[in-house]
Amino acid sequence: MTVLVVGGGIGGLATALGLARAGHRVTVLEAAPAFEEIGAGIQVGPNGFRALDALGVGAEVRARAVHVDGLRLRCGVSGRQIAGLAVDEEFRRRFGTYAVVHRNDVLAPLIEACRNHERVELRVDSAVEAYAQDGDGDGVAAKLRSGELVRGEALVGADGLRSAVRRQLVGDGEPRVSGHTAFRAVIPAQNVPRSLKENVVTLWAGPRYHVVWYVIAGGRYVNLVATTDNGATEPVTAKPTEHTEVLRHFAPLCDDAARVMALAREWRAWVLCDREPVTTWQDSRVVLLGDAAHPVLQYAAQGACQALEDAVCLSEVFDSRDVAGSCARYVALRSERTARVHHVSRRMGREVYHPAGEAAEARNALFASWTTADLHERLEWLYG
Ligand SMILES: Cc1cc2nc3c(=O)[nH]c(=O)nc-3n(C[C@H](O)[C@H](O)[C@H](O)COP(=O)(O)OP(=O)(O)OC[C@H]3O[C@@H](n4cnc5c(N)ncnc54)[C@H](O)[C@@H]3O)c2cc1C
Repeated sequence: MTVLVVGGGIGGLATALGLARAGHRVTVLEAAPAFEEIGAGIQVGPNGFRALDALGVGAEVRARAVHVDGLRLRCGVSGRQIAGLAVDEEFRRRFGTYAVVHRNDVLAPLIEACRNHERVELRVDSAVEAYAQDGDGDGVAAKLRSGELVRGEALVGADGLRSAVRRQLVGDGEPRVSGHTAFRAVIPAQNVPRSLKENVVTLWAGPRYHVVWYVIAGGRYVNLVATTDNGATEPVTAKPTEHTEVLRHFAPLCDDAARVMALAREWRAWVLCDREPVTTWQDSRVVLLGDAAHPVLQYAAQGACQALEDAVCLSEVFDSRDVAGSCARYVALRSERTARVHHVSRRMGREVYHPAGEAAEARNALFASWTTADLHERLEWLYG
């Protein structure tokens, strides 16, 4: 029997690989005509790299990653440094690798490993509309948009924020629109003046906005994400946006941040969404994973990392002799931690990235009072 994985993003492919390495047959059903990610970067924390190691692709992703020297929080208005976290020997000894990567540099090693694995079948143009549990309780079928039925012993819904599997399983409607818009651009590194080049993730936090940038793709590009709390009400995905329209949301802006923003030409906008955490990720032989189970705001840079952790956890506990029981164990192991990431992500937006006036002063004073050891203690639950 085969496990059906709906969705071939980072979460779905990691799950397919993990289950195959644990001895199960897997078919991935991806709606798009090809397995690919949008051309932007993500930060991968130590917990994400440990999951990639457990899947056997950590070395390939590390080889493609940019290993940053640290993370830096600066004031978006004055440019002054508010806090810094060195990714140095001490950090690496305690937590492991922290790096930034082009999304395809995570996806490509996963695809290659899946393609080379005899127990994985990858299918594209296979949008899943619904699932049906077999009456006798020992199987499940995915119903494709084409009308085809694909049968398996279990079905993993890894079909992202607007998951069709979740719609049927949880039925909690459309995602919550956060009101925050993230504009993304990728800039060729050769266009960046030397004075702005640093091997760190820099985040400028201003009143109701923040701007993050870092180098990706072996130093060839710079990834820029500028996010504004502009009260957007409509969910928007990858919408091309004019440069002048983007800039209007980011004022006042310190010189360095303004120079970085000026380098971007082709912007795309995402209105960020998440959902309230739920623990109903399972319906007998069907279970949710990644953004389909627990979509979070991007602010803790953990959505993909949590999807990778899910994949490792499900692969470790999944048992064909007790599909429903083993899926329930996976949900029990994962739901509390992912809900914590969800709450922390929202809080970081509110209390660290977007405060103004007195709230911003209070944030600055709090960060100034923390030593490196304090910061490490606070990160232990996530990276440790
Ligand atoms: C601006 C921004 C910045 C981010 N930065 C970071 C970061 O720094 N670090 C981090 O860890 N995370 C980050 N994230 C979060 C991360 O991108 C997601 O959490 C992660 O991609 C989720 O992976 P997934 O596989 O669960 O879902 P997805 O990547 O959404 O993949 C779902 C897949 O399912 C397919 N699909 C959809 N519907 C169907 C269907 N009906 N049938 C079949 N297939 C279907 C889709 O085509 C897609 O391939 C960021 C997100 C945003 C928006």
